[in-house]
Amino acid sequence: MNRIVAGVLATGFFFGGAGLAGAQTAAPDTPRATSPRVESLIAPRAPAPAPGPAPLRAAAPRRASARVEALLAQMTLDEKVGQMTQLTLTAVAAEGGPQRDSVRLDPAKLREAVVNRHVGSILNVIGGSLTLEGWDALIRQIQGVAMRESRLGIPVLYGIDFVHGANYTRGGTIFPHNLGMAATFNPRLARRLGEITGDEALASGIPWNFAPVLDVGRQPLFPRFYETFGEDPWLAATLGREVVLGMQRTGRVSATMKHYLGYSGPRTGRDRTPAPLTLREVRESYLPPFAAAVHAGVGSVMVNSGEIDGEPVHASRYWLTEVLRGELGFEGVVVTDWEDVAYLHTRHRVAATMKDAVRMAVQAGIDVSMTPYDFAFADHLAALVREGTIPESRIDQSVRRILTLKENLGLFDAPFPDPAARARFATAEAAETARQAARESITLLKNEGGILPLRRDARILVTGPAASSLTALNGGWTYTWQGTDASQFPEGPRTLVEAMLRRGADVRYMGGSRFAEAGDVEAAARAARDVDVAVVVIGEDAYSEGVGDINDLHLPYPQLRLVQAVQATGTPTVLVMVTGRPRVIRDVADAARGIVMAYWPGMHGGEALAEVLFGDFNPGGKLPFTWPRHPNALLTYDHRQTEALAPGTDRGPTGYNPQWEFGHGLSYTTFAYADLRLSAERMGPADSLAVRVTVTNTGPRAGQETVLLFTRQHYASVTPAVRRLRAFEKVSLAPGASRTVTFTLRPEDLRFVARDGRLVLEPGDFDVMVGGLKATFRVTPGS
Ligand code: BGC
Repeated sequence: MNRIVAGVLATGFFFGGAGLAGAQTAAPDTPRATSPRVESLIAPRAPAPAPGPAPLRAAAPRRASARVEALLAQMTLDEKVGQMTQLTLTAVAAEGGPQRDSVRLDPAKLREAVVNRHVGSILNVIGGSLTLEGWDALIRQIQGVAMRESRLGIPVLYGIDFVHGANYTRGGTIFPHNLGMAATFNPRLARRLGEITGDEALASGIPWNFAPVLDVGRQPLFPRFYETFGEDPWLAATLGREVVLGMQRTGRVSATMKHYLGYSGPRTGRDRTPAPLTLREVRESYLPPFAAAVHAGVGSVMVNSGEIDGEPVHASRYWLTEVLRGELGFEGVVVTDWEDVAYLHTRHRVAATMKDAVRMAVQAGIDVSMTPYDFAFADHLAALVREGTIPESRIDQSVRRILTLKENLGLFDAPFPDPAARARFATAEAAETARQAARESITLLKNEGGILPLRRDARILVTGPAASSLTALNGGWTYTWQGTDASQFPEGPRTLVEAMLRRGADVRYMGGSRFAEAGDVEAAARAARDVDVAVVVIGEDAYSEGVGDINDLHLPYPQLRLVQAVQATGTPTVLVMVTGRPRVIRDVADAARGIVMAYWPGMHGGEALAEVLFGDFNPGGKLPFTWPRHPNALLTYDHRQTEALAPGTDRGPTGYNPQWEFGHGLSYTTFAYADLRLSAERMGPADSLAVRVTVTNTGPRAGQETVLLFTRQHYASVTPAVRRLRAFEKVSLAPGASRTVTFTLRPEDLRFVARDGRLVLEPGDFDVMVGGLKATFRVTPGS
């Protein structure tokens, strides 16, 4: 691989550097000083967060505390490699299949793991969510053994995937998945999601959360697309940073940015398959959210299970050490993903033996191996040290980081769940915040003739598989890994059809179709003839990871046939999409009068959707990705000009013709943009440029509008993107009201990754584009 010398980002010929970005990004609760190298990568102009209590300090390996150093000095090699081992809960649980509500541990297995094998970390659930009491008893039992029976009394670090709220604790607050959060374009909601999730993790006795996902969603086939904040690296960086700051604000919970790096860009679209990305592309489009999270003080990182350009990331010293630690300055804990050290041998086949796989991963830079069932990793690692292949000082580095994280989380002094933390579990305010997030995520894609909002007296047919499904509203990672076990869902939350009925609407419901199999389409079509409007609720039922792999981006044909049958009746049709990724609906989109995207909006999604459909909430969500019209035309909004040329010489569709563009989203009111003004026509290396635009609500209702600012460089040494999102601001406007929004553009906002991997700003002309308006300015060279 053509490697870029580590640290080069700090030295390039670009102007600006740390000082310029620092002024606006330094937040009151930014946990530690920012290195110039990080500044060269982080998202600029993240909204200033509110100050909070002491945030988590990132683990500091070179300056570990006296307690950590004293412990380390006493530890045997076996105790050290044990700290680097993470087991899944099943490995220490009693036999007997899935365990819900509470888990029965096998005391002998637990003792073997924690006392004899010195295991430092345990994760996961066993086929189901636990109650608060269940978590309490479980963590108490584990920590009891660790603190009282292990030689050195080192607490166990328990890890969990709370990826859209406390999704593994009964009754926990469940938010929209990240893709919907991105559609809100609301950093404050992202901050609150982080805070609430952190509080509820703490209430569950769990200090280590494997979230946020900071993969950038640029491949819509990817089954984890819904876990991303969409296709724009800067939007993902801005919201991801907020989640990290929120989640870690008490200092008692560590966030984990994942899955570093390039996971979400596989060629096949399938989970855990290679990404054919160039190094430049990785740095330009995938690295910024991770850099922003490091800047925010994230405590740990989980590694991508796939490969970048032929190199499994778990074996990459370049990405895991040179870039992550050398350039970004990350000092926390690197945890592998599930069984990924072994996979270097068994799947990726870059290691001829398991022992060599362990050597590769540890030398690349991992600290904790999610093994997750056995002790092979620890055994091989100890052997590698004993035979002199890996120096013990390398093991000490990782153990120092792990113990420092445990110490920073307060686990040495307070290893047991704190009952007082339960006061902050599933509060009414948290539920209302999750519901508001669902409302603000909902994106109105089409509204021909004002078919929406629905008339209160309309006779309505509701049909389609997602209309009566709570699992589809919540998606994967809800109570179970796959999210498909509705029996674990709480009483109370409503499906869309239930929420509509509750409003007293004249609604009749027919299933019509299942997600992937045909249903009684004829019955649904017959019912459609007798109503004023048909609402067809289509999309995807819950899935997680590889289970969601697909070979065809089209909406499954049984659902397309249902929509066509309903449309054939001539009754006006509204499509509601409940889905984790865009599915191609070209053949039914034109004939639909209204189309609403709900993403996977979470437990309050049914109510939020009903509010939007009946006009009680005016939708303002914007697509955080480009919705493809054709399955083989998967361009992102920031494509190159040549990618948008019409294919061939005929006058057919242009090369960039998505169903809907990134940033698209309508409202029940209308907004007009006027008076785009720049404070200057030229920008020098030390200047900033004020960009002002006036937005007016020209329609009949109050509404929210996200003002998106894009730039385009006319000429550059690397083919410039047709546009890049550089700033956004969400405004609420009463009917007739205007607001002048001011953005400050700085030179470093306009940088791109050059062919040699440096982040550079090249002088020249730039367009700035806001709401259909355009202005031009010139960046002048430095002296
Ligand atoms: C997923 C991770 C998750 C881990 C632990 C893996 O299969 O890729 O996102 O954190 O499991 O549950």
